[in-house]
Amino acid sequence: MPETAQRLQGFTESVIRGMTRLATQQGAINLSQGFPDFDPPEELLVALERATRGPHHQYAVTWGAPRFRQALARKITRCSGVPVDPDQELVVTCGSTEAMMVAMMTACNPGDKVIVFSPFYENYAADAILSGAEPIYVPLHPPYFHYDPEELARAFAQQPKAIVVCNPSNPTGKVFTREELTEILALAEKYDAFMIMDEPYEHIVYEPHEHVYAASLPGAEDRVVTCNSLSKTYSITGWRLGYVQASARFIAQARKVHDFLTVGAAAPLQEAAVAGLELPTSYYAGLRDLYTRKRDVFLECLRATGLPFTDPQGAYYVLLDISSLGFACDHEAAKWIIEHIGVAGVPGSSFFREPIHQYVRFHFAKKEETLRAAGEKLQALARGR
Ligand code: GLN
Repeated sequence: MPETAQRLQGFTESVIRGMTRLATQQGAINLSQGFPDFDPPEELLVALERATRGPHHQYAVTWGAPRFRQALARKITRCSGVPVDPDQELVVTCGSTEAMMVAMMTACNPGDKVIVFSPFYENYAADAILSGAEPIYVPLHPPYFHYDPEELARAFAQQPKAIVVCNPSNPTGKVFTREELTEILALAEKYDAFMIMDEPYEHIVYEPHEHVYAASLPGAEDRVVTCNSLSKTYSITGWRLGYVQASARFIAQARKVHDFLTVGAAAPLQEAAVAGLELPTSYYAGLRDLYTRKRDVFLECLRATGLPFTDPQGAYYVLLDISSLGFACDHEAAKWIIEHIGVAGVPGSSFFREPIHQYVRFHFAKKEETLRAAGEKLQALARGR
């Protein structure tokens, strides 16, 4: 067989998705790939049933069904205060996963550099490489995962085409402050780079922290590209609905990338998801409260292991520090925890650029009973291995 493309040597298959397969194989409680084990809101289920009987079984408009885009634009404006033209400033994608790929391919020329904070959600490096770009990394320093402004400025001095910011951040749970986002945007302006945001956890932020939409900052119009998804907000990760929100000029180009990648997101699901976008604002406060409870339950369980862990400000991930258990590396630890404890997490090193092997990432987007059952099993870690 001829050699496959060289650029595929630059990254591996997703470790997160691999751990989910391993969890299923081993019958472990799956706290690896972040998705809920509870149903979406009833309104969405009813709308989905209705959509199956409607005229929605053929392609929707490539860049998104008009009704979906209009409802989406209203929802974005209601939550962020940013006015959005549904016809020119949105492209609907198959999840934020496609949105990020589209954003990166729209922004980058071969050889461009893209700044990625480390630790990072594993897709970003692959997205950059598939776009022909080279990821360059700026560390987020534990325990609060602050970046060092000087390290960031040095990275910008390499003239990157874009910076990727996941806010709230997976896997650290960091919620970027207004000051930090303003500082990053100022550097993006100075070096004429795009600021590509990935914000699927916008509504999963724990008090007193608050989500600041980068798109709402002064000067964001031509520079901030927001990728987002309905997966986490409405507990519909399998529906694969996401979007890119940016200036009309950017979106005009992004539509072309999206069109030739996927043609479009599933038409009946766009129709049904309108019911989610039209939920009252109180729904989002309810979601935050729900996840605050889940966080409290899960962190309580982790406390009983005696091991240190990160305290998320947002999103639903925790990095458990397993260095005292004496494993050779985090892959070995994650495998051992699946096999001997019956709980699946993700080896933390798959999120880090630096050689850091002391964490396993767990998520808590699960029913309280699932979290308690996992917690009970994890207690065994208190005794070591
Ligand atoms: N964001 C989720 C995680 O980090 C997974 C999303 C996905 O697999 N597409 O686990």
